[in-house]
Amino acid sequence: MTTETVRFTDLALSEPVLKAIADVGYEQPSPIQAESIPHLLNGDDLLGLAQTGTGKTAAFALPLLTRVDMKLKTPQILVLAPTRELAIQVSEAFQTYAKHMKGFHVLPIYGGQSFDTQLRGLRRGVHVIVGTPGRVMDHLRRKTLDISNLKALVLDEADEMLRMGFIDDVEWILEHTPKERQTALFSATMPKEIRRVTKRYQRDPKEVSIASETRTGENIEQRYWMVSGTNKLDALTRILEVENTDAMIIFVRTKNATVELAEKLEARGYAAAALNGDMNQQLRERTIERLKNGKLDIVVATDVAARGIDVVRVSHVLNYDIPYDSEAYVHRIGRTGRAGRSGTAILFVAPREKRLLHTIENSTKQKLSRMELPSGEMVTQQRTDQFKQTLLDTIAKTKELEFFDEMLASFSHDHNVSPEQIASALALLAQKERPLQVEFKNVKAYNERDDRSSRSDRPERGNRGERGGERGGERGGRNRSSEVESGMQRYRIEVGREHECRPGDIVGAIANEANIDSKNIGHIKLNDSFSTVDLPEGMPKEMFQTLRNVRVRGQKINITLAQESDSKGEAPKRGADFKKKPRGDFKKKRTFKKRED
Ligand code: AMP
Repeated sequence: MTTETVRFTDLALSEPVLKAIADVGYEQPSPIQAESIPHLLNGDDLLGLAQTGTGKTAAFALPLLTRVDMKLKTPQILVLAPTRELAIQVSEAFQTYAKHMKGFHVLPIYGGQSFDTQLRGLRRGVHVIVGTPGRVMDHLRRKTLDISNLKALVLDEADEMLRMGFIDDVEWILEHTPKERQTALFSATMPKEIRRVTKRYQRDPKEVSIASETRTGENIEQRYWMVSGTNKLDALTRILEVENTDAMIIFVRTKNATVELAEKLEARGYAAAALNGDMNQQLRERTIERLKNGKLDIVVATDVAARGIDVVRVSHVLNYDIPYDSEAYVHRIGRTGRAGRSGTAILFVAPREKRLLHTIENSTKQKLSRMELPSGEMVTQQRTDQFKQTLLDTIAKTKELEFFDEMLASFSHDHNVSPEQIASALALLAQKERPLQVEFKNVKAYNERDDRSSRSDRPERGNRGERGGERGGERGGRNRSSEVESGMQRYRIEVGREHECRPGDIVGAIANEANIDSKNIGHIKLNDSFSTVDLPEGMPKEMFQTLRNVRVRGQKINITLAQESDSKGEAPKRGADFKKKPRGDFKKKRTFKKRED
């Protein structure tokens, strides 16, 4: 059986877990799941090379849940994650998959949340803990977390933990867990440090990865849109308005999503239908037939249901949810550009799925071009053109207009209004809920800076083991210049080298305690008694307040705007470096290459 044909029911997962999968509407295990689940069920250690978006969370959660002993009320599974966001997300995934396991409890534990809340949760009896390394270590030290019955430990996004300076904490935890535990490590890249950890702490791990080389057709134009500021549904409808489409296949991940999205598109006036594995063969064939003969313009499908569709008028494939790997991507986009025609493939990429985009580009050996959403003017232009065409078509219906000609002529005379005024008023009325003139507000969340280079262009940083040169004080990455990058602001924090602070400590504390995505944390400069850190502009007040109380190395950081303290005469002391460097220098230094060992 190839991984492509494996079904969830072929895997020895427990009944309650299978039931939960059916509820969420997963049709088929993703490749990483099909490969990992049997090993983890078997009790083997696992080394998974997989990034976000591949379905890696379920790849470990489903088999480990199957192995949970519900009678035991102490933690049996511990997942370590680099950030509080991820810890919460993984914990929610466990909750979803354990929906039918009566009395099941999972608890996320991370910095920034009160110990008391976590202690209450722990006392209630939990089966799974998902936590950030620092806080887990604190609990273990205080003996408030009993892991004597731990069966499995998962290191999720191990390379991120390394990058954020958590590797010592992770190793400390590994040293303090039962020796006979099972260990699964997932990482998007395999730097040497991670290899070393697996060698030292894993027993003969089974290796799984999703990398494969695949080719895409040259007649297909490939673009991606980085999801930000606008939700995916609005983005899709904007694209549908402006893009010159004939028929489109939209790919989503679950059966439920095919139905939901098709319904939403229908409600917006599109001829759309769902296509999924729950539909019988006859119904599926009928749907494809309707797409062929133009009764439908959009089919919203899962990978399984759309396999092999050959409809020449499919001009566009839109990957609403990113595929699990490049192979699935190639299958999907191959639904357009049939019979020698040209086609367009559009991919929606959430900021956290950027790595998967790189994987797709690397294994298909093709770059996707970044697209912006159509602007308000473009949509206005399109709607105006359509409206004008409708007017011309209606004016041609002279016979049917006679009654209105007379009525409006007398109206014009009686009320002394010009024909233009009447026409404008009617046009305004004709718009209904779909105004011709469109203006989009593009609101970007503070935490949603989506600079494509921000993640991949940075070398690993904050790694305690290998940062011999750290005393230089620069966070080894992103921007070694002292110039504040545009869109960023420089803050001063009252912790520095004399507190034995390292850049990784700062990144970890800020990311976890204030819930700022680590990729949004810019240049860090360590000085003796204080440091500076660049953060995105426009920090919300509450976040600023939270940050003021954050402690690094036991030291309250008392964050202030660096420029502010500068102008107040509290000028940065020894070692601070606020001079602007020439632009050229800055640019040159920005071109750090990704270091993926
Ligand atoms: P992850 O890579 O774990 O972050 O998962 C990415 C997304 O894929 C999540 O939204 C999951 O709900 C979804 N997902 C995971 N496994 C499957 C599956 N077998 N079928 C459909 N969706 C899935």
